[in-house]
Amino acid sequence: MRTQSPYRQLPQIQLSRYLTDTSQNHSGRKAPLSWVSQVMNQLPFLGLRPAQILVVLAHPDDEVLTSGIASLLGESKSVQFVYATSGEAGQDVSGLDLKGASLASARELEQHSALRALDIKREPLFLHYHDGGLDTQKESLKADLMAILQATRPQVVLTFGPDGFTGHPDHILVGKATYEAAQALSQSKQYALTRFKPPQFLQMGLTHEAYQQFMKTFTQPLSSSWVDVKPMAEDAHAIKIPIPHDVIQRKLLAIASHRTQFPQDDLESFKRFQEAFPFETFQRLDITA
Ligand SMILES: [Zn+2]
Repeated sequence: MRTQSPYRQLPQIQLSRYLTDTSQNHSGRKAPLSWVSQVMNQLPFLGLRPAQILVVLAHPDDEVLTSGIASLLGESKSVQFVYATSGEAGQDVSGLDLKGASLASARELEQHSALRALDIKREPLFLHYHDGGLDTQKESLKADLMAILQATRPQVVLTFGPDGFTGHPDHILVGKATYEAAQALSQSKQYALTRFKPPQFLQMGLTHEAYQQFMKTFTQPLSSSWVDVKPMAEDAHAIKIPIPHDVIQRKLLAIASHRTQFPQDDLESFKRFQEAFPFETFQRLDITA
């Protein structure tokens, strides 16, 4: 069972002859890695191209709250989706009864189709963390996200808010790790040398108005994926972005691409919801505060 991102298991590039080795002090004891070494250790991610919008999620299919704005922006800007896991702990509702690695492969394929439906040009990045156990891998995930933020240098980061939309612990943890990674980069004097500019940080979530519409339009009783959906704690810094009709159609196609995840009832409920409420709502967070 993989518990770390595979990128961290790639052989390290031998940079020691170009850099002063700070990993050993004169007494021969291991000293903490310098910030240069910490950045250089993440070199595999530096192959990522800069992106204007970075979307960080826990599982394939998590983009339902942000796929409209990502698709809208994707027409003129570069959008990079990152998934911490490939969703192998989920339940397959397609009738094929896929599990474990087969489910993860199917969900990655579904994700590629969903992003194609949304007209997102970039391939998604899967970090292959263990689904359902992210709480024990937060520091490693945060280190990867710092490297990804450095490599992509986004203007906007979209991720989960503190309620994780459905209350899923992996969602909550991904939102928190992304926030902490962006905050650490923005506030660190060391990273200021690399001219990291703090991105706008938007947390996905339902305002009270969106939540009321959600409850009205979703089939009752709610299926297990939606049962813990809650509204945002407060609407004070909320923004509400109108999503045009043609983009809503793309969203619905994208959601339908996740065949292992959404039963027909959910697709119909989601269609009713988006037709009644053609918006996406986010909460803005200042990461430099
Ligand atoms: Zn999820």
